[in-house]
Amino acid sequence: MSKVFITSALPYANGPCHLGHLRSTYIPADIYARYNRMKGRDVLFVCATDEHGTPIAVRAEQEGKQPIEVAGRYYEMIKKDLDACSISLDNFSRTTDPKHYEISQNFFLKLYEKGYIYEKIIKQPYCKKCSRFLPDRYVEGKCPNCGGEARGDHCETCGRHLEPTQIIEPTCLICKTTPEIRESKQYFFELSKFQEELNEWIQSNDQLPPNVKNYALQWLKEGLKDWILTRDMEWGIPVPLEDAEGKIIYVWGEAFLGYISSAAQWSEKTGKPWEDYWNDKAVHFIGKDIIYHHSIFWPALLMAYGCKLPYTIIAGEYLSLEGMKMSTSKNWVIWASDFLETFDSDTLRYYLIANAPLTRDTDFSWEDFQRRVNDELADVLGNFLHRTFTFTTRFFEGKIPEPLDFDEYDKEFESKIKALPGIVGSYIENFKFREGLIEITKLAKYGNKYFNDKEPWKTVKTTKQTAANCLYLSNQLAKAMAVTLIPYMPVKTLEIFKTLNINSDINWDNAADFIAAGHELGEANPIFLKVEDDVIKNEKEELYKNLKDVETMKDEISIDDFAAMDLRVGKVVGAENVKKSDNLLKLMVDIGEKQIQVVAGVAKKYSPEEVLNKTVIVLVNLPPAKLFGIKSEGMLLATDNNMSLLTVEDADIGEKIK
Ligand SMILES: [Zn+2]
Ligand SMILES: [Zn+2]
Repeated sequence: MSKVFITSALPYANGPCHLGHLRSTYIPADIYARYNRMKGRDVLFVCATDEHGTPIAVRAEQEGKQPIEVAGRYYEMIKKDLDACSISLDNFSRTTDPKHYEISQNFFLKLYEKGYIYEKIIKQPYCKKCSRFLPDRYVEGKCPNCGGEARGDHCETCGRHLEPTQIIEPTCLICKTTPEIRESKQYFFELSKFQEELNEWIQSNDQLPPNVKNYALQWLKEGLKDWILTRDMEWGIPVPLEDAEGKIIYVWGEAFLGYISSAAQWSEKTGKPWEDYWNDKAVHFIGKDIIYHHSIFWPALLMAYGCKLPYTIIAGEYLSLEGMKMSTSKNWVIWASDFLETFDSDTLRYYLIANAPLTRDTDFSWEDFQRRVNDELADVLGNFLHRTFTFTTRFFEGKIPEPLDFDEYDKEFESKIKALPGIVGSYIENFKFREGLIEITKLAKYGNKYFNDKEPWKTVKTTKQTAANCLYLSNQLAKAMAVTLIPYMPVKTLEIFKTLNINSDINWDNAADFIAAGHELGEANPIFLKVEDDVIKNEKEELYKNLKDVETMKDEISIDDFAAMDLRVGKVVGAENVKKSDNLLKLMVDIGEKQIQVVAGVAKKYSPEEVLNKTVIVLVNLPPAKLFGIKSEGMLLATDNNMSLLTVEDADIGEKIK
């Protein structure tokens, strides 16, 4: 039996799961795992919480707790969230597990012995008051490139990667004093040595999706530098060498091995060797923010160790929320557990997959969620199933009628049903989960049309065989749909099987085997219900109520987006206060070809009268956003963080700015 090793990116144990995590990583991985099991393949699907690194250490210090307590708390929460979303992991472990320490230290040693790890003295910020080095987030200050807020190894404003010693006016995060620069011995991984080999692997690997391939090739073109693999801090896996006291393995030098240690833990429980799965076919599901780590760093580590490389890496792109980038610090986020208080997990799984292909950024909005649930799940899938089951119950005593003498239309419908599992399966096989799902709803739509055209409510009284053929085939589609929907909606489909009165344990390739005529159905209940307007209204109010710093939300534009920015000169032609907020103004801005509505967080600085007639610069190609329910179609540029508007003179309205 062929084997598949499936992983989803390790969630970092300093917060629960939100919709973005589920969309980019866990739901796609789970669909793939469930599909493969149904294909009769032997699947090992593992994950673990990533529990080292400075964010957890800092949080623990701030809470006056041990890092392990913080990580343990979130491990439990994340596990609960993943279970609640039916993520069918075979093992979910932690990177603080002793097994993981053992595997990581052995891995490090092997690379060291093979000569891929070398020592080097480097300069690091050191806090005298706290008597320690300040790795990563422990040092704060200003970015040398843009003057923005720099935290440890990266700038919050321009998004650039920084060396901690480059930071201007640095302070210790814990005691706020100025650190000094000291020398420290660290261990480096010879990543640069793998330039050629990686290039060859990426170029020749036809399985890698374009988003992963393109990013990786770009980095390879820029040339790889050696990676620092250790830190001076307490929280982490100790470097397993003599005279390396006080040093730990950098979190990215061991987190990947969480896939392996989780699998090894599973092997201990089951007695089955995980290596067989890895060597057959290993598939990683990740979010796009860690493509670099998985396409460059991880394969290089594996090459250095002498291990088979993964079959492919599937990277889910970002999910924004109501048109704005998600931000956990600003509470602009929907937590899985909150969502599941009102809706079931399958509805969420459906929406997040149907919404957009995995390889594209997309947006969660409450209205779009309601629309898809109502129009697609309830009106198309739900309606088809419900009318099929209730008609069979009403006119054929709840038994699948005997078919006879199919006409051309019946035959066409029959062949479409037979073809469904193959079509959907080949999409899932190629990680095109949305396309597979669309095929199912498309056929349900066709089924509804067929049902309408056949008018069984009339023909049952005239040419009863027409109605019998219609219901015979409709029940067969209900079954084929139920089977092919299992990977997408593992809970809801059970209800369909209950009504069909058959076992849900069906192999994918038998999805379209027809149920025999005369088979008796169970009770028919509506399966997909509509979402009411007031439910959506409540959810939206709740979301906006929790949002902190609403006026700064749109500041977060990443460096990648600058090239694509469309800036125009505009004139403010209307301005009023937003009632619910003391920070926001609702503006109408003339940008030449049209007027757009912009919500701007400038009310603390300007009255509506003061902004009126100002010539401003507007970013016009943002995804549509809403603030307090008010549509905002652009963003005004400010000169500083205090929201002083950037105004221009001698410019034509509508002029493009480069
Ligand atoms: Zn910067
Ligand atoms: Zn300090």
